[in-house]
Amino acid sequence: MSETYVIVGAGLAGAKAAETLRDEGFDGRVVLIGAEPDRPYERPPLSKDYLRGEAERDAAYVHESAYYGEHDIELRTETVAEAIDLNSREVELTGGERIPFHRLLLATGAEPRRLPGAEGAYYLRDFGNSDTLRGVLDQGGRMVVIGGGWIGSEVAASARQKGLEVTLIEQASAPLEGVLGRELGEIYAAIHRDHGVEVLTGTGVESVDAGRIRLAGGRELECDHIVVGIGVVPRTGLAEAAGLDLDNGIVVDNRLRTSADQVFAAGDVANAWHPLFNRRLRVEHWHNALEQGPAAARSMLGTGEPYDRVPYFFSDQYEVGMEYAGHATEWDEVVFRGDVEAREFIAFWVKDGRLLAGMNVNVWDVTDDIQAVIRSGAQVEAAKLRDPDVEIASLA
Ligand SMILES: Cc1cc2nc3c(=O)[nH]c(=O)nc-3n(C[C@H](O)[C@H](O)[C@H](O)COP(=O)(O)OP(=O)(O)OC[C@H]3O[C@@H](n4cnc5c(N)ncnc54)[C@H](O)[C@@H]3O)c2cc1C
Repeated sequence: MSETYVIVGAGLAGAKAAETLRDEGFDGRVVLIGAEPDRPYERPPLSKDYLRGEAERDAAYVHESAYYGEHDIELRTETVAEAIDLNSREVELTGGERIPFHRLLLATGAEPRRLPGAEGAYYLRDFGNSDTLRGVLDQGGRMVVIGGGWIGSEVAASARQKGLEVTLIEQASAPLEGVLGRELGEIYAAIHRDHGVEVLTGTGVESVDAGRIRLAGGRELECDHIVVGIGVVPRTGLAEAAGLDLDNGIVVDNRLRTSADQVFAAGDVANAWHPLFNRRLRVEHWHNALEQGPAAARSMLGTGEPYDRVPYFFSDQYEVGMEYAGHATEWDEVVFRGDVEAREFIAFWVKDGRLLAGMNVNVWDVTDDIQAVIRSGAQVEAAKLRDPDVEIASLA
């Protein structure tokens, strides 16, 4: 009897998993369930060129619309999975329809963390949010962006590029400090200031009231639009109700298996054991969804291997593009190669003589080499990292 594999979450991870099931020759039933009206799409353009009205919607879709039918993938858009019954092995949809599964992948992603009391503020996660914000950017005026993470920083840049007056508020001492540390965060603060953004750091928001923001310390800001980008939370409701192990997302092993038999998780929602870093990592980035979806599909098929990709992400703000590979939470020093002033450089995060992460800013075609050095675990000398005449690959 042919089997049914159900994927809940028709984002990038879910779509790539469905594609992989078919590419690897699975000939059973594949059901891809997605709450959104659109077929699966990639989110990075939503804070960048699509938001600014410079890119077509079509460019963001993972597949052509005919793809799903042609590959016999039952894509159910605007369909919410309400519950998982692990005893009867069924997924229950809104309205009561139940879909039996032999194997199940949860690729439910993440959603913006809400700022209590920020009524009327804009958030950015999906096409609908981006379309709304795009209209706001067309209106012009004064925008305050609360939160200097990736989404906040990119929205601030796009809004500035569209000519709005922008204030970016970050409670840490620099934007992006949480991921990159203070030194690199200061560089991003300077990039925003150079483009005319007012960057307020080290300050929290006390209250938000119809276009008036009161900061801790008493300063008040008036504005036409407020965008909140204070991080995301993994969508774990279904998994929680089904009794799966959770810890900052759905806990999975290095083959993306959850605590329940034949149930897998991938993408933003999965907190996966990473063999290279010897710890669990929940990665909220495009590349992770792109690669974990297929890896989970192979695990569902029983042909999977441990997922050990070096985490990778990218960001574009104004004319500054970057790629970051690795994972660094504590380090001894950040070593720079190149011209930081000109914003063409590579930053290396080093701990105990080993490379944990590297970020190339307006320097390209080095991320594979950086990843190879991280993966090798080799001892690296700061002087060699600094020296542009030393090939990065030679340090692996
Ligand atoms: C504006 C924006 C810009 C970004 N830019 C970058 C970037 O420059 N670089 C980078 O590396 N990353 C970027 N990211 C992050 C990247 O987009 C995410 O890591 C990626 O989308 C994760 O994919 P996913 O498939 O795991 O989850 P998601 O994209 O969140 O997709 C999950 C899907 O599951 C659906 N779903 C959830 N629960 C249910 C349910 N019960 N029933 C049915 N459907 C359900 C959701 O509606 C959603 O469509 C950006 C994200 C955003 C929002």
